[in-house]
Amino acid sequence: MNILILGGGGREHALAWAVSQNPKCDKLIVAPGNAGIAQIATCASLNAEDPAAVLQFAEAEAIDLVIIGPEAPLAAGVADRLREAQIPVFGPNAAAARLEASKSFTKEICDAVNAPTAAYARFTEAEPAKAYIREQGAPIVVKADGLAAGKGVIVAMEEQDALDAIDDMFGGAFGAAGAEVVIEEFMTGEEASFFVLVDGNDVLPVGTAQDHKRVGEGDTGPNTGGMGAYSPAPIMDASVTEKALEEIVRPTMAEMARRGTPYSGVLYVGLMIENGQPRLVEYNVRFGDPECQVLMMRLGAQALDLIQACAEGRLSEMTVNWADDHAMTVVMAAEGYPGSYVKGTEIRGLDAIENDSMNVVFHAGTKADGGKVLATGGRVLNVTARGATLQEARDRAYGMVDRVEWPEGFCRRDIGWRQLQR
Ligand code: ATP
Repeated sequence: MNILILGGGGREHALAWAVSQNPKCDKLIVAPGNAGIAQIATCASLNAEDPAAVLQFAEAEAIDLVIIGPEAPLAAGVADRLREAQIPVFGPNAAAARLEASKSFTKEICDAVNAPTAAYARFTEAEPAKAYIREQGAPIVVKADGLAAGKGVIVAMEEQDALDAIDDMFGGAFGAAGAEVVIEEFMTGEEASFFVLVDGNDVLPVGTAQDHKRVGEGDTGPNTGGMGAYSPAPIMDASVTEKALEEIVRPTMAEMARRGTPYSGVLYVGLMIENGQPRLVEYNVRFGDPECQVLMMRLGAQALDLIQACAEGRLSEMTVNWADDHAMTVVMAAEGYPGSYVKGTEIRGLDAIENDSMNVVFHAGTKADGGKVLATGGRVLNVTARGATLQEARDRAYGMVDRVEWPEGFCRRDIGWRQLQR
């Protein structure tokens, strides 16, 4: 079959890596792709957020399945357009993608089905929002309603920080995304990400992960897109998983279907777990990046069968064939990230690093320049390994990190620390 993947980060490299191992995969095109993806697929240039352009491209290339990596094309209605044209697509329609694109929408659905989540209030004006913050006190969480690339959430430990966040948001710091603000109760506990495939009717769990969002060791410093992740997340034991499915995921999916906007694709369920009880932090309507890298490493070629069945509404036929394994990914970023950083530095040594079912360096922000690989983004490489234990996966991943020759790059040396200390 002919497959098109939209996106060009580490998540899409991992998807392309898994999909390309399945013998069913004949032609694989990734738009825009990157230097790592170019080694296993054809990279194409295409405006992935333009539904008409994607449809035209898919028809011209006789594509049998489109896999949408990032959220922006989903919010732009790319999946809607492909579905209308009967091209199987992995990713929800725009109406269902609101589960990520609008935090107040998600809260409204949680209310409708009584899903455990933080108490909240929503505001479109600063003064009542500030009055609410003063009444509730800190710690408290202030969120811009719309998509803000992970930057629209302020976890305020002091009341003043929350009040300042209100001024920033209504002052336009997040553009239209901040025209409405959700203020939430601060939840305590341990966070984990739970991934399920959904085809409107059926829900199939495809793994759990935990990530490290802060740039500094010991989980300190500014937030990033994620500096590393591992799978599985041991806190997601059978009982927590069952509660997350029965109290949060299935009721939400049933409510989406009842409203005439059934969900189809992967649902990323961000949870806060305390005393064995999961509560919803957020939904994302796509795989996490870098969580996808560890999930794909563990799923391998079967990922394509699962994704295809999801896109074709046949999830009830599927089971996941789990190996009893662990995976870890370590993000290598350009010095300075998440602040300003230099682009265009050369990365050497990649050819000498193993590349097999246990070890892969996924590219997140690279481009090929003649025979060279250049860093083009903040997060640049996702050094990923699998092992019988988390420690083994960790040792392999850092063994590879140590062989990447990139003086202008850095990584955290403590990915998985909490779990490894247990
Ligand atoms: P991203 O997609 O990058 O994860 P986002 O902008 O969609 O971020 P959220 O996931 O809602 O935002 O929040 C980001 C982080 O803030 C969470 O991962 C969590 O650590 C923290 N957080 C969010 N809501 C709460 C809450 N109610 N209580 C405590 N912490 C919270």
